[in-house]
Amino acid sequence: MENYNEGLLMKIQTVVMEKKKKIALIAHDNKKQDLLAWAKFNEGTLSEHELYGTGTTGGLIADELNLEVQRFKSGPLGGDQQVGAKIAEGKIDFLIFFWDPLEPLPHDPDIKALLRIAVLYNIPVACNRASADFLISSSLMSDVYYREIVSPERGKSSSK
Ligand code: PGA
Repeated sequence: MENYNEGLLMKIQTVVMEKKKKIALIAHDNKKQDLLAWAKFNEGTLSEHELYGTGTTGGLIADELNLEVQRFKSGPLGGDQQVGAKIAEGKIDFLIFFWDPLEPLPHDPDIKALLRIAVLYNIPVACNRASADFLISSSLMSDVYYREIVSPERGKSSSK
């Protein structure tokens, strides 16, 4: 069989996602009401998990709902990057990110970086309400899940 990854070994790491998920909630300004309505509808389920949010989004959800949200900086001030760092550290394992497809934003590079990290670390990500509905109604929300992270093993070669 041909080796399409000549000279590169891939490392697979399995990370346990506990029943209690560590969920980050982020919404751009034009999407905040949408996320708030979604969070209200799912308040019961969300209350079973650990919630995080960027500054304004997290504040809005904590103020309007009976939910505790640990807040980072506001997105344009580095909040998205803080969430990305927590995903890389394994401290956030679920992302609800209602980004705005119709407006350019000053922190567009941070948004792209956050989405890249979320895909790399293989965490569930919902970027609109329908996806968020499907994710939150999954039976895996209340179960343990084994998440695989695939990354190149630097400095090692499959031909040796
Ligand atoms: P905010 O940040 O919750 O502080 O508005 C969200 C974002 O713009 O990424």
